[in-house]
Amino acid sequence: MLTEITGRFAPSPSGRMHLGNAFSCLLAWLSARSAGGRIILRHEDLDPARCRREYADKIEEDLCWLGLDWDEGGSRGGEGYYQSSRRELYRQFLEVLDEKGLIYPCFCTRADLHAASAPHTADGTPVYSGACRGLSPEQQRERAKTRTPALRARVPDRALSFTDGLQGPCAVELARDCGDPILRRSDGVHAYQLAVVVDDALMGVNQVVRGRDLLSSTPWQLWLQEELGFSHPAYYHIPLLLSGDGKRLSKRDGDMDLGAIRASGVSPERVIGRLAFAAGLIDREEPVTAAELIPLFDWAKLRKEDIIVK
Ligand code: GLU
Repeated sequence: MLTEITGRFAPSPSGRMHLGNAFSCLLAWLSARSAGGRIILRHEDLDPARCRREYADKIEEDLCWLGLDWDEGGSRGGEGYYQSSRRELYRQFLEVLDEKGLIYPCFCTRADLHAASAPHTADGTPVYSGACRGLSPEQQRERAKTRTPALRARVPDRALSFTDGLQGPCAVELARDCGDPILRRSDGVHAYQLAVVVDDALMGVNQVVRGRDLLSSTPWQLWLQEELGFSHPAYYHIPLLLSGDGKRLSKRDGDMDLGAIRASGVSPERVIGRLAFAAGLIDREEPVTAAELIPLFDWAKLRKEDIIVK
């Protein structure tokens, strides 16, 4: 029996959606819809300092404006589709990992972590040195008197390989190339790596389409899925949209956010046409609706390299 595809939009409501976020949502939507699948909307608002409910509402409005609908979740689905309301679940799964002896407290400061000698992961962040891995219970108690620790997972020293639907085969040595990820920050906020694994599994997501910047997080997520007894979704890591200076589009590129784009009077069909042309789905940049792209969608047409949009 063929399994129905369940994809998702997983935006972080820390600002207005920009063209890069719209690109991820469009491709996640097309991939699911072209296979007759479903889409879930989950607001990834774990970080209370950065995320706001108004931004989540605006994201929903912008998705609707773009013609991208969803079958489950978002504000219609209730609090369960906001990560900020799912802390108890993350706590429970963290406990499962802890019972397996995989969790340890880390007292390192930001400065410790950025020590110049540390090797770096593919995305440029330092691989954790493992400095707190071997602390004795006594040392842990001593340090906890002056500093609240983060919690890290102890990855095994082994190879992990997988095939990304767009980028192809990927292989890493978990301990050497990725290191031990933080699963709960020192301020008590659960980390993205844990939350995304728990949520994708509990929400039945079996296809993840997201920016190539998250390819380096995938080995951790695959390993956590194994440890928690979850099945692996299929992953497709799509190119990033870059601004003219070669930097990844971000919330700082104000003119690329949907608020500015909509205020300039551009139609949603023009925005979708631009994104579809950038992706390699249509040969000429012309207005098109998201729904009109469904029959044209094919992963084999998609560009793998990052795309400059201005
Ligand atoms: N919330 C993340 C973001 O907006 C996406 C996470 C994911 O797709 O796994 O960048």
